[in-house]
Amino acid sequence: MIPGPIEFEPEVLQAMGMPTNSHVAPDFIETFGNSLELMREVWKSPTGQPFIVAGTGTLAMDMAAANLIEQGDHVLVISTGYFGQRFKDILDRYGAQTTILEAPLGEVVSQEAIEKELQSKQYKALTITHVDTSTGVLVDPEPIAKLAKKYNTLSILDGVCSVAGEKIVQDEWGLDVVLTGSQKAIGVPPGLALLVASRKAMEVWKNRKSPVANYYADWNNWLPIMTAYEERKPSYFVTPAVNLIVALEASLKIIVAEGMEKRVKRHQSLAKAFRAGISSLNLEILPKNDEVAANTLTAAYYPSGIEGMVLLSKIAQSDVVLAGGLLPEIKTKYFRIGHMGSVSANDMLAVLSALERALLKSGHHLEPGKGLQAFQKELLKSDL
Ligand code: PMP
Repeated sequence: MIPGPIEFEPEVLQAMGMPTNSHVAPDFIETFGNSLELMREVWKSPTGQPFIVAGTGTLAMDMAAANLIEQGDHVLVISTGYFGQRFKDILDRYGAQTTILEAPLGEVVSQEAIEKELQSKQYKALTITHVDTSTGVLVDPEPIAKLAKKYNTLSILDGVCSVAGEKIVQDEWGLDVVLTGSQKAIGVPPGLALLVASRKAMEVWKNRKSPVANYYADWNNWLPIMTAYEERKPSYFVTPAVNLIVALEASLKIIVAEGMEKRVKRHQSLAKAFRAGISSLNLEILPKNDEVAANTLTAAYYPSGIEGMVLLSKIAQSDVVLAGGLLPEIKTKYFRIGHMGSVSANDMLAVLSALERALLKSGHHLEPGKGLQAFQKELLKSDL
């Protein structure tokens, strides 16, 4: 129950275990083409250009920066935790002049602050971390994408911890890049960088003055490959991660069969009930309020007087694996529970009961079953 890699569906793992095909075999061409088409459905971007590349979420960030940014471009990084700084570091490598707007811990940056910054100079792009996995803070990308449009700025969404878990309507919201890695709510073992670029983003890339300063990430190399696979034609730039892409098609089919609206609702209902459970155990949640709390993971502080690593190892004795803190300033003070992908109410109840037992054994005062009761009560209010 960590926030990625998540627990994968048996069908996905089975697909991944197939004998490795040629990357130009008709079956594989079909799988690749289908996966690109399914990505447009999941991202809700009928007009976007999808890319499937071997790598991780960080490569998808790198790819967005390498292709869209040129020396001296101004980029605004809207940060809600650890991964904002990562985006800044990547952008800086490509010569961007970055300004980082950091939200107070557990909060989001205000629209006013973003607009004020956008008015101050011509920004080429802004980046948003949809869900920062280090804090569990959820940002609403829609109004920020609107602001970006108003100031003729590209909007880039780091959706590594949100795509296929949180609501995203890329075209309608006007997001120019929405990127992720395979190992989170997309539900495929780590190893794929996934990205959908808007027509405007592709236009900006085509009109670059300088060459892309990264050979592997250059869309000049990748676009013909994506186009060929969609046209069901063989092509080669680098050897694709064949088994991972077979697994990707399997997982995207499961996601689309559930339906994005239903899937997002499931994540929301489970997360809300889970937060009710956690709060009833007198644990403080890191995001300041429900509105900015992610539905793909929950970050909560350890109770005072309890040694975090000891608590997590007690929980692990119940076969429930949780993640420690990630944000350096408070790393030892909090822990994280991932609840995305195929997660069910049963999984969440198992986490809460293991957590209750470990807390009780550690001397934390609580009434056994309280967290479970709060979870059940909240969940019954939803239609899950
Ligand atoms: N952004 C966010 C929000 C993430 O959660 C992560 C991974 N935890 C990354 C970027 C980087 O992805 P990866 O580890 O797959 O490179």
